[in-house]
Amino acid sequence: MTRNAQPAASHFVDGAYVEDTAGEAIPVIYPATGETVATVHAATPAIVERALAAAARAQAEWAATDPTARGRVLRRAADIMRTRNRALSEIETLDTGKPLQETLVADATSGADALEYFGGLAADLTGTTMQFGGDWAYTVRRPLGVCVGIGAWNYPTQIACWKGAPALATGNAMVFKPSETTPLSALKVAEILVEAGLPAGLFNVVQGMGAVGAMLTTDPRVAKVSLTGSVPTGRKVYAAAAAEMKHVTMELGGKSPLLVFDDADLEDAVSGAINANFYASGQVCSNGTRVFLQDGIAERFLARLTERLEGAVIGDPLDEATSFGPMTTEAQMRIVLDHLETAKREGARVVAGGERLDREGFWIAPTVLADLTDDMACVREEIFGPVMSVLTFADEAEAIRRANDTPFGLSAGVFTRDIARAHRVVGALHAGSCWINQYNLTPAGLPFGGSRASGIGRENARAALDHFTEVQSVYVGMGPVEAAY
Ligand code: NAD
Repeated sequence: MTRNAQPAASHFVDGAYVEDTAGEAIPVIYPATGETVATVHAATPAIVERALAAAARAQAEWAATDPTARGRVLRRAADIMRTRNRALSEIETLDTGKPLQETLVADATSGADALEYFGGLAADLTGTTMQFGGDWAYTVRRPLGVCVGIGAWNYPTQIACWKGAPALATGNAMVFKPSETTPLSALKVAEILVEAGLPAGLFNVVQGMGAVGAMLTTDPRVAKVSLTGSVPTGRKVYAAAAAEMKHVTMELGGKSPLLVFDDADLEDAVSGAINANFYASGQVCSNGTRVFLQDGIAERFLARLTERLEGAVIGDPLDEATSFGPMTTEAQMRIVLDHLETAKREGARVVAGGERLDREGFWIAPTVLADLTDDMACVREEIFGPVMSVLTFADEAEAIRRANDTPFGLSAGVFTRDIARAHRVVGALHAGSCWINQYNLTPAGLPFGGSRASGIGRENARAALDHFTEVQSVYVGMGPVEAAY
């Protein structure tokens, strides 16, 4: 296949591709080789203005549209995405460097799941009724208006759909700013939505760095900002939104624990830990990067893990046989290498990997670090790369205490055959999204999101409908109105 992924234009505004070359040029780099596969331009204030004006204009009519018809558009878009899965996956692979083996099953397909799920739910946005003596009241869920979505670079298609689908299903309009690193896929999502019948102006994509995100966040026409990104960016965006009392959803970073008890199925636990650390080369917010092994299983686990890592196929991400790809950016590769240097300096034992791979592009070997203590930087900080930090523990209480000893609270995993312990342990963990004997599966029908520094609000499931609407209460007087005078 050709490695030219140049889109028709940089932005998608008011139902069509638009260009403004006055904006800063942003190269799109294929991380496996370092070659430039496309160039887009950051949005100028004129492009941002066009997008926001189009969204504001289109939203009122969309909110008044029969919700079943709104849902039908989303479900049609889901079908189109599925029929184009391969082409969309190839773009995602060029944009992110994630192996085609992954993008074929986890990106456009996951986006389509969200479009289909929220398409089905669109007509089921219900309120409640209450009696107050002879009087009564009801509630209605109303759209917020113009919503802004801001994405990270690890799951560009999925993030655009996880934000766009519930926003549109509930009668909002969206202006979406992808990460400057991965600008391509969201344009395809916008194009498909319009092809499926979405009226112009309801889903707009504008490119740019943080400054464009900040421009969108502070605009008075915007009612809500949904960000997927790092904790430092989350703090800035949350503060900016708070200044004007805007709604927010914050999907931020993590340093999630994965607890493996002695009685766990060894193969499943090792598979869980591999998925929780090396999928997408470790660039997954919910990854279980602190792997706590109970003393009785630790040695067997590490031996089997090392064997299983030999099976990783590291190569051209566009080859479907490849199962491990590069880091998405050179900058992220350098951040991970710095973390590895610090870990080694602090006394970590490198069980596997631990270094850059000698080839063009931004590659780091799947890495396992052991002999760690809870205060080391590689155990405390989000690395966002293929680095598993292994720790050991003696008993359940110790595992829970140490797992919770983090400012983050995105995810957690528990591997054990003891069902009572599994539920008891997740009940004691501070994490928004937990898995028992599994890791990182995120179906559209299950709320996803973090607690503590990892975020606020939830994506997916009915929870997302709540976060893209607000309740209007209506009190209905049925009798005479009494007054003091
Ligand atoms: P980032 O915080 O650097 O950037 C995220 C987005 O915010 C980008 O589009 C960026 O341009 C924009 N941005 C930056 N400054 C801004 C500002 N002041 N105002 C508005 N927008 C601004 O994150 P990243 O490096 O792209 O992604 C990696 C991070 O994202 C990791 O911490 C990861 O854990 C997190 N993440 C979280 C989830 C989740 O669902 N919880 C999912 C994926 C990634």
